[in-house]
Amino acid sequence: MKVFYRCPKCQKLIDFLEVEEYNEKALGLNILTEDEKEDIIEVEYDNIYIDLTCDECLEEDNWVEMIHNVRIH
Ligand SMILES: [Zn+2]
Repeated sequence: MKVFYRCPKCQKLIDFLEVEEYNEKALGLNILTEDEKEDIIEVEYDNIYIDLTCDECLEEDNWVEMIHNVRIH
C-alpha cells in the first residue's frame, strides 16, 4: 500500500512511500491520539493519506503567529 503525505493547506504532495502493511508505529503515528488520527489520516482502498503541513505553510503559520504576538504585547 502507498502512504501519501499531503499538506492540508495547499494540497501539495510532500512525500510518499510504499509499505508492506499499515503499521502505525513504523509510520510514527502511534504518538497521535485517536482524535488526531481521525483528523489527519484518511484511508482509501490501498492508499493512506496523512495530513502534514508543509514547510512553506509552516513558515507562514509561524509568521502569522509572530505578527499576532507582536500585536498583543
Ligand atoms: Zn502547504
